[in-house]
Amino acid sequence: MYITTPTLTLLARPSFSEPSHLPVDWIGESSDGERLAEFAGRLCYMSQRNPARRQTRDYLENIKRQGHGSVLEHANYSVLIEGVSRSLTHELIRHRAGWAYSQLSQRYVDESQAHYVVPPAVIGDPALEGAWRVQVDEAQRAYVAMVEQLMQRYSWVADKVHRRKMAREAARSVLPNATETKIVATGNARAWRTMLELRSSESAELEIRRFALAAIRLLQAEAPAFFSDFEIYEAEDRREAARIGFHKV
Ligand SMILES: Cc1cc2nc3c(=O)[nH]c(=O)nc-3n(C[C@H](O)[C@H](O)[C@H](O)COP(=O)(O)OP(=O)(O)OC[C@H]3O[C@@H](n4cnc5c(N)ncnc54)[C@H](O)[C@@H]3O)c2cc1C
Repeated sequence: MYITTPTLTLLARPSFSEPSHLPVDWIGESSDGERLAEFAGRLCYMSQRNPARRQTRDYLENIKRQGHGSVLEHANYSVLIEGVSRSLTHELIRHRAGWAYSQLSQRYVDESQAHYVVPPAVIGDPALEGAWRVQVDEAQRAYVAMVEQLMQRYSWVADKVHRRKMAREAARSVLPNATETKIVATGNARAWRTMLELRSSESAELEIRRFALAAIRLLQAEAPAFFSDFEIYEAEDRREAARIGFHKV
């Protein structure tokens, strides 16, 4: 199967339990993650009574404006990311601070039926797509043949799981960067913002840029006070990109 769009599923969001001895005078709608950050920020000045009568959204806007972004680190969001290439995840996992990742293992998982992610720049041009598929299909055949040969070569290894791992870890070397993978990424709101700023910009690679835009939409719906300052627009290359209101809070 050839994949042309990523699939993002929100797996986990913060659950905030307000301590009864330090109640906040909340104003406006907010999610648990946003309340958690506001609570943490207000604790610094013991301003739970909300003297400035700020809605959560305005409070967190001010936090971003002041660059007091460490309070955003309390709120973590986990996203299951599917239908993306190994080259995308290679770029994604360069983002370290505030992140945790768990990715499908090509050593343990059989890739004989792997899917492949069509590079956005190739989509829509039949000749380019055809040429790309020929290469991908050839790599797939080479992988299957190599696993078979390696299983025979190491037939003396008694532990079948170990033998399979030996075969798959060597055979995967012929698979292309386009091979589809799955990854769970957990990041705090500040880490998501930093990554999304870099990866949704016009200078980002097109596939990770497309992913970043999907993630911005997902997170804006989930926690607008954290992510509403990302503005999505159509760039000169006729693809979507985003610019951020508050750089690296
Ligand atoms: C358009 C683009 C092109 C790129 N091209 C290349 C390339 O050709 N080759 C390549 O190798 N990489 C490339 N990268 C990856 C880039 O170099 C970074 O590794 C990646 O963007 C992660 O950025 P980061 O380190 O700021 O992020 P994170 O690891 O998420 O860190 C976030 C922030 O925390 C702080 N921080 C994190 N770790 C430390 C630390 N150890 N010490 C001090 N401060 C820290 C920094 O302020 C950092 O910006 C590219 C990235 C982009 C967006």
